[in-house]
Amino acid sequence: MRKPVIFGNWKMNKTRDESKEFVEAIEKVLDGKENAEYGVAVPFTSLRKSVKKSKNLLIAAQNCHFEDSGAYTGEISVPMIEDVGVTHCVIGHSERRMMFGDTDETVNKKAKRLIEAKITPIVCIGESEAQYDAKETESVIRSQLNGSLKELDPNAVKELIIAYEPIWAIGTGKSATKEIAQNCCAIVRDEVKNMYGEDVASKVRIQYGGSVKPENIAEYMACEDIDGALIGGASLKVDSFTAIINATK
Ligand code: PGA
Repeated sequence: MRKPVIFGNWKMNKTRDESKEFVEAIEKVLDGKENAEYGVAVPFTSLRKSVKKSKNLLIAAQNCHFEDSGAYTGEISVPMIEDVGVTHCVIGHSERRMMFGDTDETVNKKAKRLIEAKITPIVCIGESEAQYDAKETESVIRSQLNGSLKELDPNAVKELIIAYEPIWAIGTGKSATKEIAQNCCAIVRDEVKNMYGEDVASKVRIQYGGSVKPENIAEYMACEDIDGALIGGASLKVDSFTAIINATK
């Protein structure tokens, strides 16, 4: 049985005080809720405060660098996020791939370094609208996984989270139908099986992301290969994140 895992992704939103208020409010909602794991990926500046205020809510960084230190202006290393106490880190989000030069190769290096630090990577993949229109979704998913999850410890792959997020569904309100989401998450699981075998594939948790909201989360969660969601816009307000938590079975 795979435990559902829901993460909010705040992107470049919220000051430290706003983050603290959110975490405190959601902690109240999570009290006694053990059906699923819930977390938020917060900006670097809010990590420490969020970690301090959280008990059941998991706190993730939104990115990291694969080198431990050096001349990388503006970057944050894995030992640095380890030092503030995060348990998870999002890597390879499509916004980072499109705007900040992340590639399958750098995502793979980041995954390796995070696993070494025992921080769970949330590895994001997903095709663009042009690739979707050209019917390349399946080959894009398989090739991104091959590059991003290359040569990892199979036991660590069982524990990590893969977020399948079609780029055309992110922040657009054009969420994928549950059939498309399920079909693509099944392809993700099949590729993990090709790479690491049946046992690993049956344990790895796969999230769908892209315009998930309180009104549609339950239908994704009912799909066989969807174990959770990565949620941007609808994770920013306490009310809507609470509604998502309450709609998750
Ligand atoms: P969205 O973002 O829920 O606002 O579409 C999802 C994401 O970028 O992870």
